[in-house]
Amino acid sequence: MERSLSGEGFTRSETVETADFHLINSCAFIEDAKMETIRTVLDAAKIKKKHKNQKLVLVGCFSERYADNVRSDLPEVDFSFGTGRYHEAGTLIGSKFGLQSASETRSDTENLSPLFAIVKGASFAPVKISDGCDRGCSFCAIPIFRGKFRDIPLQTILTECRDLAATGVREVCLVSQDSNSYGGKPEAFLDLLEALHEVDDLHWIRMLYMYPDGKTEAILKGLQNRKLPKLVPYLESPVQHASTRMLRAMRRIGDRQRFKEIFDLARNVMPGSEVRTSILLGFPGETEADVEEVLAFIEESRPEKLALFSYSPEEGTPGAHLADQVPIEITRERVNRVRNAFLLQHANRQRDLVGQTFRCMVDETQDQEIIARRAQDAPEADGVVYLPNSRLLSPGDLVNVQITGFAEFDLTGVIV
Ligand code: SF4
Repeated sequence: MERSLSGEGFTRSETVETADFHLINSCAFIEDAKMETIRTVLDAAKIKKKHKNQKLVLVGCFSERYADNVRSDLPEVDFSFGTGRYHEAGTLIGSKFGLQSASETRSDTENLSPLFAIVKGASFAPVKISDGCDRGCSFCAIPIFRGKFRDIPLQTILTECRDLAATGVREVCLVSQDSNSYGGKPEAFLDLLEALHEVDDLHWIRMLYMYPDGKTEAILKGLQNRKLPKLVPYLESPVQHASTRMLRAMRRIGDRQRFKEIFDLARNVMPGSEVRTSILLGFPGETEADVEEVLAFIEESRPEKLALFSYSPEEGTPGAHLADQVPIEITRERVNRVRNAFLLQHANRQRDLVGQTFRCMVDETQDQEIIARRAQDAPEADGVVYLPNSRLLSPGDLVNVQITGFAEFDLTGVIV
C-alpha cells in the first residue's frame, strides 16, 4: 500500500494533524477488533473536525467485510476500500479526490511487488508469504473476507525482502494466515527459508502462524538437515484450545499431547527456542472441564508467550449458530483465570533470565536508552530489553546483552 501511495507522490506527514489524508488500516477479526476499529474512526473524526480539509480513508478488513455499514453508519469516513486493493491505494485515492497522478505512466507501480512496505528506519518488517485460508475453523471469519489460500510467488517475496534490506530492515517476520501451507508441502516452506538466507544484510528470519499439525512437525524436522543460521529460535503456533472436544467443535485438528510434542520438537531443533501460542476461550459448549484442560496444557507445555482471546460469534461462521453460547462474563472470567496461571509461570521465567546473555537486535535508539529485543521475542508482540544508551548504535545492529532485571514482559540489560 505504501509503495503504491509513494508511487503516486504521497508522502508521510509528520503528524496526523498535518495530514491531508488520514488512512486507517482496519481489522475485523473478532468483536474486540471491530470495536477498536470503530473507536479509532471516531477518534480520527475528532481530529478531522479541527482540520477541515483532511480526508479520512478507511482501508483493510473492516471496510472489506462491512462495506455497506461503513457507507451507511460511518459518515465520517470519506472513502474506503478493502484488503484486495491495497496495492492500488495511491491510484484509488488519487482518482477519488481528483488528484493529478505523480507518475507519468502506470507501469512503474504495476511492475513492483504489490506487498512492499517502505519502512525506513525500522529494524524489522512483516513479510507476507501467502494470503487467505482453507482451514475452515468454525469460529473464524477470516476466510470469508481474505478468501481462499494462495501463495505469494517466491520471487516476489525475495524482491520484497531485498528491498526491505536496502532500507535498513534486518529482520523479516514471515506472516500469513496459514504459513506452513506455503507451496503446498513442507519442503517448499524450507526452500523459502533457504532462499531468504541469500538476501544480504538480513540478520534474522522469523516464522509466524505455524498451524500445529504434521506440516509444522515436518518443517521442524527438516530444519535439522538445512543450514539456516538466520532463523531465530522461535515458533509461533496457535493451538486455540487444549480440550480435544473443543478442538473438534472448532473444526481443528490435534490434541494437547500432540501440541506438547510440537513445542518440544521446536525447542530441540532450535536450541533456546521460545514458543508463542494463542488460545480462544468461550467457544459454544465450553465447560469448566475444558478450561481445566487448558490450564493443564499450560502447565505441561509451558509456552513462553500466550495470547488469549474471548470468543465472539461472528456472522457467517458455523460457530455463530451453535447452541450453548457461553455468556461473555463467564468467558472473561475464564480468560482472566488462564491469564493469571500463565503470568505466574511467566514471572518465574523472567526471573530466570536475569544474569543470562542474549543476542539482541536494536530496534530503537533514544537519548537516554536503547530499545532492543532478544531473538526469542517477536517485534510488536513480545517483550523488549531496555539498555542504557552507552554506544553509538543504529536500528538493526546486533549486540550481546546481559539481562539485569525484569518487569511483567520487558527486561533491562547491559551490553557486554
Ligand atoms: S487456520 Fe487461522 S485463519 Fe484459518 S480458519 Fe483457522 S483460525 Fe482462521
